[in-house]
Amino acid sequence: MKITDVSVHLVSYKLPVVWTNGMGTTTKKDEVLVFVHTDEGVTGIGVSYHGYAAKTIKALILNDLKPLVVGADPLEIQALWERMFAVTVHLGSAAVLAMSGIDTALWDILGKVSNQPLYKLLGGGGTAKVPAYVGCMTLGVQDIGLLVDEAVKWTDQGFRSLKLRGGAGLERDVAAVKAVREAVGSGVDISIDINARYSWPEAVRICRRLEPYDVYWVEDPFDYTIAWHQADLAKLAKLDLTPIASGGNIFTAMGFRNLLELGGVHYIQPDVVKCGGITPAIQIAHMASAQNIQVAPHTLAGLGQMANLHFSAAIPANVRNYLEWEPTTPNPMRETMLTNPIKVENGDLLLPDGPGLGTDLDMDVVAELSFIEGLPSRSSARGRQLYAAPISAAAQ
Ligand SMILES: [Mg+2]
Repeated sequence: MKITDVSVHLVSYKLPVVWTNGMGTTTKKDEVLVFVHTDEGVTGIGVSYHGYAAKTIKALILNDLKPLVVGADPLEIQALWERMFAVTVHLGSAAVLAMSGIDTALWDILGKVSNQPLYKLLGGGGTAKVPAYVGCMTLGVQDIGLLVDEAVKWTDQGFRSLKLRGGAGLERDVAAVKAVREAVGSGVDISIDINARYSWPEAVRICRRLEPYDVYWVEDPFDYTIAWHQADLAKLAKLDLTPIASGGNIFTAMGFRNLLELGGVHYIQPDVVKCGGITPAIQIAHMASAQNIQVAPHTLAGLGQMANLHFSAAIPANVRNYLEWEPTTPNPMRETMLTNPIKVENGDLLLPDGPGLGTDLDMDVVAELSFIEGLPSRSSARGRQLYAAPISAAAQ
C-alpha cells in the first residue's frame, strides 16, 4: 500500500452569535481538513488546527509535508511522523499543526484497512463513552444574566461540567463564577479559561479570589506566549490555590515532557489536531498517567473533536478526564459535515463503532462551508483596552 496524494480543504462557518473570550471576539470557525489518498482506494481523513493562518498551514502540508509521505507505506505511521518532524522542526509549532492532520489521517487509514475503530487500535481504554464538559465556543464573556441562562440550559441537558470564559477583569470573572455556581449548585464542575489574558500577579489574584467557589480548574491564566510558559505554570500550580489547567498550546511530547518535569499542572490539555497528531497525543497521555496528571483534551467542534474523542477513550483510566464539547446549534461542522456525528447521552460522548475515526465527511457540506477570509478571532495582543469598552461595543 502506498500513499499517492495529500489534499486539503479549508472550511469555515459563521457563528450564529459573536463569541468573546480573553483573546478577543470571534465571528467564525475554521478547520483545515486533510485527506491522505492511497493506491488501494482507501482515503484517510484528519484535521490540522488552523493556527490563525489556515492558508499557511495548508501550504505547509502541500509544499513541505506531502513530498515526504507520497510513495510511502501509510501504515508506517511512527516512521512518517519522525520523518516529517525531522525535516520541518525548524518551522516550529506551525509545522506541528500541519503534521497533526496527516498523522491523524494515517491512523484513520489503519483503522479502515483493519476494520477497527481508532480508539480500540490505540489500545482500547475499556470504555465506549467519555464525559464531556461544555466548552469550545460557548459560555463566552457576555452579560452575566445571559451567561447564567446558558449555563442552566446546558446542565438541564445533563452536562455535569462547564467551562466559562474569563479575562474580562478580575471582578467580572469572580462575579461570573459566583453567579453560575449559585445557579447550578454544587453538583456541577465549573472551570474558567482566562485565555492567557492576565499578568502574573493578576493570575495569582484570580486564582486566590476563585478559591471559595470550588473551581474545577483555572486555565491558562497568564501570558499569551503560552507555548513556552511551562516553568511559570508549574510555579503557579505550586502555590496550591485553584487547580490549574494548560496544554492546548503546547506542542509534541517533548513540550509536554517539559511541563510535567517542571512540576506540571493539575490538568493537561493536549489536542490531537495541535500537538502533532494521534501519535504524540498517546505518548503524552501515557507520560501523564505515570505521573497521575489528569488529561482533559482541548478541542473544537468538527472532525478534530472526533479524533480527540477516540484519543480520550483510549488513554489510561487513572487520568481520563472530561473532553471539551460544544453543544451549540446550529453548528454544521458538528452536525452535518460529519456523516456520523458524535452522539451525546446524559453529558457523555459516545464512541462510534465504524472503522478508523468512525465517520466520513459529507463533501457536499464541505463544499458549502467555503473558507471565509480573515482572522478567525479579532485578537488584541495583550489587549487590555478591549474590555475598557462595554462588551457589546467590543463585539461589533
Ligand atoms: Mg483554553
